[in-house]
Amino acid sequence: MAADDTTEVVRVRDVHKSFGTLKVLNGVSFAVDRGQVVALIGRSGSGKSTALRCIDRFETIDSGEITVCGHRVDAPGLDLRALRQDVGIVFQSYNLFPHLTLEENIILAPCAVKRMPRQAARELARRVVAEVGLEDKLQSYPEQLSGGQQQRGAIARSLAMQPKVMLFDEVTSALDPQLTGEVLKVIEKLAAGGMTMVMVTHEMSFARGIADQIVFMHAGRAHETGPAGILSAPRTEELAQFLGNGL
Ligand code: ADP
Ligand code: MG
Repeated sequence: MAADDTTEVVRVRDVHKSFGTLKVLNGVSFAVDRGQVVALIGRSGSGKSTALRCIDRFETIDSGEITVCGHRVDAPGLDLRALRQDVGIVFQSYNLFPHLTLEENIILAPCAVKRMPRQAARELARRVVAEVGLEDKLQSYPEQLSGGQQQRGAIARSLAMQPKVMLFDEVTSALDPQLTGEVLKVIEKLAAGGMTMVMVTHEMSFARGIADQIVFMHAGRAHETGPAGILSAPRTEELAQFLGNGL
């Protein structure tokens, strides 16, 4: 069976990655099925962001295999453009281009990468802002938006590329609780709509409520994986400690 006939959208297998002498990923493996929400958790510095960035080929890996929507991400012949069309990624901050309106931010990639006509792209922009509740902000510049609105705008911009999987890296970490809530609601809605997602998060109660699978990163590996229940009943000492001691 071809890789993209399977229900597996992301497969990370025995991935190793060092920065100089610092070994960050030391044989990490996990898989994400279509429609699944996976929460990537672990201490600061445990390699969560690096793992996510490897999936979208913002980092190259030293060894192992990563397959995303049928693309062999670690292969030399990777079609990076095709990969980036299938994968949306939203970071903690600095997601929108500050000199462009929200609408211009959203239509940029569909026009440039997908060669979508401007008018069609603007209609698409109207649809995706409605999904994140920013219908009235299309002509606003990022600095005119709250942090939560900026993050929702960034999610809308990703959605405009109609990705098959979304990656979220601590998208609420820079926000106060109220703004966090409005961004998490958008993510919940995406999950309910069947979007496949991998999210790095420190919001344990949110992860417990939304994740189909928890991946706990420790010592460069997916140290413990399982359903959200492992957050209440961890099997390993390390996860128990992480949950007990907070961050
Ligand atoms: P997490 O997201 O779990 O906090 P990261 O993946 O960001 O962890 O980082 C893991 C480790 O790798 C940290 O020690 C970090 O300093 C280091 N690191 C991350 N990116 C780089 C880089 N580009 N160059 C050098 N070291 C890096
Ligand atoms: Mg990180």
